[in-house]
Amino acid sequence: MTSLRSVLSSRPDAAQNGATGVEPAIAADIARFVAIRRDFHRHPELAFKERRTAARIAELLGEWGYEVTQGLAETGVVGTLRRGNGFRALALRADIDALPIREATDKPYASEREGVMHACGHDGHTTILLAAAYHLARSDKINGTLHLIFQPAEEIGAGANRLISEGLFNRFPADAIFGLHNWPGVPTGHFGFIDGPAMASVDQAIVRITGKGGHGAAPHETVDPVVAAAHAITALQSIVSRNVDPLDTGVVTVGAIHGGSASNVIPEWVDLKITTRSFRPEVRRLLAQRVPAVIRAQAESLGASADVDYKLGFPSVINAQNETNFLRQVALDTFGEEQVLADFRPRTASEDFSFFLDVLPGSFFFVGNGDGAPLHSPAYDFNDAILAPAATFWVRIAERFLS
Ligand SMILES: [Zn+2]
Ligand SMILES: [Zn+2]
Repeated sequence: MTSLRSVLSSRPDAAQNGATGVEPAIAADIARFVAIRRDFHRHPELAFKERRTAARIAELLGEWGYEVTQGLAETGVVGTLRRGNGFRALALRADIDALPIREATDKPYASEREGVMHACGHDGHTTILLAAAYHLARSDKINGTLHLIFQPAEEIGAGANRLISEGLFNRFPADAIFGLHNWPGVPTGHFGFIDGPAMASVDQAIVRITGKGGHGAAPHETVDPVVAAAHAITALQSIVSRNVDPLDTGVVTVGAIHGGSASNVIPEWVDLKITTRSFRPEVRRLLAQRVPAVIRAQAESLGASADVDYKLGFPSVINAQNETNFLRQVALDTFGEEQVLADFRPRTASEDFSFFLDVLPGSFFFVGNGDGAPLHSPAYDFNDAILAPAATFWVRIAERFLS
């Protein structure tokens, strides 16, 4: 779709392609990559089981002249391109796994695997990086080393950490790493950048509150874990409102409560499942300390006891300032101001790209997927119109970084 602004734009390539800044060679053969994306979509695979997907990625990268390394973190693939005598190295990452969701679209390319769906658009992220890979292999503007990382198991927060612990950056050292995510509700092919914390950390508390069961008619002979759980849940609401600095962000969500089986029986125990999220490490530590303390104190005040298993998930995505400024500048130079969102706010969802940013400078950015169902919805549909602009952006980023 051509906007009035891009028609009026003085950029010569804008008029040719109908989208400001898209590389003509990418626009010319995008149909091939739409077909690849839809093939991935029809054959989604869950975390660490992405064997078909990985084999296809490796096959294509090999055809295009990349050094291909397979079997990292089970199903990860790295494609390496070395050009010229430049000493800089850049890593670009795509995630490749799907979700245990039953697809509810009527698309001709809908999932053919019952109960498994690319509902987060990782089929799109993989294809965007492949389209860029094809064109980068033909670029004469690369002087240095490019590592394309196809990461498994993002959805369970395990793939990035596993790659790093297997020595990813010892084998494929890089000066910076970049990653992207499509975002429904943001205009198609528009780019969003965030300095500093961009996506939240997520941790989990698994709780059992134990009392003393008995007859519902004789509560004085019991210790009621249901009442203790109710007090604990209510008191948890005070952590964000009373303990977290009002200028910071924290989320405490009790997502599951299970206990008892009959209206006239006081049960022995009640289980809770809780997630906590934050942007700053200080807030993350505060939540990790206060959530168990509040639950235990509430339970004990009523004669019950609480067992809290607090599991650290993954840290927040914290973008480096220089690398984020670099991305924003490349986007402005490539697409113009109209496609770069001026004020893109951090998201309280999470991404295991955070583990990469713990060890390397880099930045994680967002590409608008247009209107439609949100991520992780059975009705979600990746927008193929973002393949060409996003692949163009990867190409320009690599050419500029490794020039
Ligand atoms: Zn997801
Ligand atoms: Zn995702």
